[in-house]
Amino acid sequence: MTAPRVFHDPAQLRAEIRVLQAQGQRVGLVPTMGALHEGHLSLVEQSQAACDLTVVTIFVNPTQFAPGEDFEKYPRTLETDLQLLSKFDPVWVLVPEVDAMYPPGSTTVVKAPRIAQPLEGVHRPSHFDGVATIVLKLFEVAPADMAFFGQKDFQQVRVIEEMVHDLLVPIEIVRCEIVREKDGLAMSSRNRYLTAEEREIALSISRSLGSTSRQIESGEIDAAGLRSKMEETLLAAGVDSIDYVAIADPQTLESVQTITAEVVILVAARVGSTRLIDNMLAAPPLP
Ligand code: AMP
Repeated sequence: MTAPRVFHDPAQLRAEIRVLQAQGQRVGLVPTMGALHEGHLSLVEQSQAACDLTVVTIFVNPTQFAPGEDFEKYPRTLETDLQLLSKFDPVWVLVPEVDAMYPPGSTTVVKAPRIAQPLEGVHRPSHFDGVATIVLKLFEVAPADMAFFGQKDFQQVRVIEEMVHDLLVPIEIVRCEIVREKDGLAMSSRNRYLTAEEREIALSISRSLGSTSRQIESGEIDAAGLRSKMEETLLAAGVDSIDYVAIADPQTLESVQTITAEVVILVAARVGSTRLIDNMLAAPPLP
């Protein structure tokens, strides 16, 4: 166990990364908002396996939260986060102040690619512009060879992939599988908002994703029917409201009517005051 090296100054981090890269070392980047859990740590593990040094960033990015969302109450657990990271070596951690990432007077933003518009884009219209802006800045201050993102935020990883493609960013994006609790709940920093009773209700999200994906794998092709069954199941389980249940093409995120190829099933729902998202890939049986 070695305490990770912590940087607060993005310019210093960039300078030191460049030195290592000049020596031929490969650098992996894992951007996070902290409140780390096994899902985040799986990204760090994958970076460690592929790179010589892993840089984890911990930054609760204000521009991806809309007024009224949970920016102020978002869990901030830096001490524990650093302890969790101390089992990985070498790991550098960037913990910048807001002013270091958004110098006073900044007005430039990245307009997220078109893939940001459906699903989350409908319910959180400025969210992905905030995500694209901070991720591009993080790519500037931590010019890694590879960056690791979780499929837990499926649309987010598609947004980043498109942005990197469109803006010619020389970083390889690696998608990492969703890490779940033993009972199936997708790990999320926001799970700690849930009461025991809400957590039980939240389980209906992963359960209904599992059951829908099994139906697709056994040959069900009617997406509208599957969607409405999922919505009924979630509401019957006590979910307070549903932003969307979607069955979409994993590449374009366009809604699918008849399931003839692999799809992604996506859910965003509120349990109490906590908004949760989850998704699962499913492929129909071979003809
Ligand atoms: P966040 O701190 O929520 O912004 O997440 C930072 C990174 O961790 C993102 O790439 C997420 O997709 C990823 N992540 C969050 N939860 C999970 C999970 N349960 N499994 C895998 N990756 C995750």
